[in-house]
Amino acid sequence: MARPIYLDNHATTRLDPYVLRAMMPYFEEEYGNSASAGHEYGWHAKEAVEEARQKVARLIGAESHNIVFTSGATESNNIVLKGTNVRTVAVAGIEHKSVLAPARGSHLRQETIPVDQRGMITVNEASFSRFGSNHLVSVMGANNEVGTIQPLLHLAAIKMSMRDSFLLHADMAQMLGREWLDMKALALDFASFSAHKVYGPKGVGALYIADEARSRLSRLMFGGRQESGLRPGTVNVPGVVGFGAACEVAMRELVKEQRCVRRMRNGLQKKLEQEIPDLTVYGHPEKRLAGNLCLGLPCQNMTAFMACLEPEIAISSGSACSGFSGRSHVLEAMGVSERAMQSVIRIGIGRFNTVEDMDKAAGAIICALDMANKGG
Ligand code: PMP
Repeated sequence: MARPIYLDNHATTRLDPYVLRAMMPYFEEEYGNSASAGHEYGWHAKEAVEEARQKVARLIGAESHNIVFTSGATESNNIVLKGTNVRTVAVAGIEHKSVLAPARGSHLRQETIPVDQRGMITVNEASFSRFGSNHLVSVMGANNEVGTIQPLLHLAAIKMSMRDSFLLHADMAQMLGREWLDMKALALDFASFSAHKVYGPKGVGALYIADEARSRLSRLMFGGRQESGLRPGTVNVPGVVGFGAACEVAMRELVKEQRCVRRMRNGLQKKLEQEIPDLTVYGHPEKRLAGNLCLGLPCQNMTAFMACLEPEIAISSGSACSGFSGRSHVLEAMGVSERAMQSVIRIGIGRFNTVEDMDKAAGAIICALDMANKGG
């Protein structure tokens, strides 16, 4: 039987076959530890890790010495939020839980960055002056539920006009490979990345650290000198190689892929808007990830709707990271009512989708909605 069409690319992406091929030798013949300095198994592993570091750095406009490999964006976010030497931390309510939880659990003074109903943060120089000096601002590049892309260049301009009076971190888990990124132009001190959102393997990611910000970060883990001591423990060599290969593909394909994914998303959105009169599209109408479609449905029975849909297309209701609870802290921060939140679905279109998938998805959503509302 055919499997459901995969349209959950914000939760994770399929490993690109090129990435798998690049990783295989590091499971098979090149199984050395990249910290083993006394033999060729170790040397080869180290070379592969350093080559991957260059590929990740190239995709984000950084130097390879600014990249620390981690287990993913959750870990990178925790290292920054818990390890940065500041007095105040400012975050918006739409951030991923791996930013919100360490921010709230820390001893730092908290400031909340306001968010509008499109999921866009609202900031100006005055709001930052209010935080005082010595603070960390953490803003996600793009939201994992509604896809809204935050005004990072505007933030960079504020930071520069305030003479770097604060440290700036961005959770780029959803942005990498989907939008062009340049760490220097964005005046970022720290940025978090994840390989599995960019057609790479799960369980590997990176933290970008600007040269000037390195001394502000303390390590959270101890017991090894790997990754400049910031992330001790044996490096996941195959995973890191896969991450590098995924960045190499993204570097080549980003522009073409973004155009193609956006065209598919717009086509699907248009078709659904034509057929479903009371449809709500969440997120920013223009400043939104090309593959994102977060929809509020006029649905009386979401359980029946999802049951009808599940054999046809794989999507999320709410954030996979929030545990499908039906209650989204992102939508809540955007002012969406608890009731409306119950009938929201998130579609994430990606590299391996086709126009045919969009036709099937539109048909399946319309049919499932009809069945759910008729009590079928
Ligand atoms: N931040 C954002 C915005 C995300 O979407 C995710 C993954 N859902 C994470 C952080 C966590 O990434 P990882 O799975 O690599 O820990």
